[in-house]
Amino acid sequence: MRKLELHWRILIGMVLGILFGFGMTYVEWGKDFVLDWINPLGSIFVKLLKLIAIPLILASLIKGISDLKDISKFRNIGLRTIAIYIGTTIIAISIGLILVNLLKPGEGISEDTIAKLTETYSSDSGVTSKLEEASRQKDSGPLQFLEDMVPDNAIKALGDNSLMLQVIFFTIFMGISMLLIGEEKAKPLKDFFDALNDIVLKMVDLIMLTAPVAVFALLANVVATSGDPDLLIALLKYAGVVTLGLLLMIVFYSIVVTSFTRYSPWKFLKEMSPAQLLAFSTSSSAATLPVTMERVEEHIGVDKEVSSFVLPVGATINMDGTSLYQGVAAVFIAQALGFDLSFSGQLTIVLTALLASIGSAAVPGAGMVMLVIVLEAIGFPQDKLAIGLALIFAVDRPLDMLRTVVNVTGDACVAMMVAKSVGKLGKPKVKNWDDNYDKV
Ligand code: ASP
Repeated sequence: MRKLELHWRILIGMVLGILFGFGMTYVEWGKDFVLDWINPLGSIFVKLLKLIAIPLILASLIKGISDLKDISKFRNIGLRTIAIYIGTTIIAISIGLILVNLLKPGEGISEDTIAKLTETYSSDSGVTSKLEEASRQKDSGPLQFLEDMVPDNAIKALGDNSLMLQVIFFTIFMGISMLLIGEEKAKPLKDFFDALNDIVLKMVDLIMLTAPVAVFALLANVVATSGDPDLLIALLKYAGVVTLGLLLMIVFYSIVVTSFTRYSPWKFLKEMSPAQLLAFSTSSSAATLPVTMERVEEHIGVDKEVSSFVLPVGATINMDGTSLYQGVAAVFIAQALGFDLSFSGQLTIVLTALLASIGSAAVPGAGMVMLVIVLEAIGFPQDKLAIGLALIFAVDRPLDMLRTVVNVTGDACVAMMVAKSVGKLGKPKVKNWDDNYDKV
């Protein structure tokens, strides 16, 4: 019997995980059981993916740059990537703002619900820690992000997953220097990184074999430990607006991919589905990165020279789903708490959500921390920030799962666009769906 394709196996794992987690909410010991016995399987999987992220970026970026014969090509790729990233993010925020202003999900929300949400969550440690983290982020100057990008210790940068941009900086610097000393001298190191790259990609395949079980565990944990279902239902309209916006973004990517690269949108979504399902299950673009890279390079055919730069940078700075969510959430909170937003307030949201999404870490819940900065920029009263966050806290995790899918899909779409524009979109290495996984 032919084995089920990977995305189906992952999907079945997800559905079973949701059902199992839901069932466990009916048992008194259910939550503890899931936390103690099920959740570790998911955490191990996420740790394994994070484990290979840095070696993969290092090997793949060095291979990518040292394969380039001409440095100006790299500058070309870099500039295009950043410009398209900014463009797609502004489109995402605009879609979010148009929807939230048209559908006004905050206006229908009753005083009672606001009181209940505030009571449940405003003193919640989740909300408090997000506010604290936001105030730490805010204290830095305007050029802080540039300063943060440059490491003063390469080993330290390589040893810390949250310093991904520093690793990218170091690697590009090293790759360019390798080009400058000439092919012959750089060959031993290039061969080393070529081999490392293939080995790490094989590690991705091996880790992905456990994905169906891991997503079962991750989703069982999310469902079993989530909050009061009544409050989730009260926020359905708000969650619906964010979800609609995110769906429109997926449609937008599909149209862009087809018109720009002539690639079938269905095939694009199908090839990306394992990465999308993982983004959904882990809520982390950083944890999903190794799989995104593997899918885009091996299954879609984007050359390493492009993907090895565009995807790691995208995972850290390009978050279309997050920026869309931040726009909708800021206006929703303003609507619900009767805070008047002028047109210039909305424009401020476009600018700050763009910066806030760039500044959001690629980990679960990071978008909500940066939302605080968006709210502060529009002059939202300080003393009401905790209430504002409490309003949307109940549905933040499911929305985080969805926006991470969009973040990852957006990166892949831009990688294809940049690759096409510089003639680096070729044939995929893996022709048949799942060939890679069947071999291991
Ligand atoms: N979880 C998102 C990501 O990793 C970031 C966020 O919106 O919270 O892409």
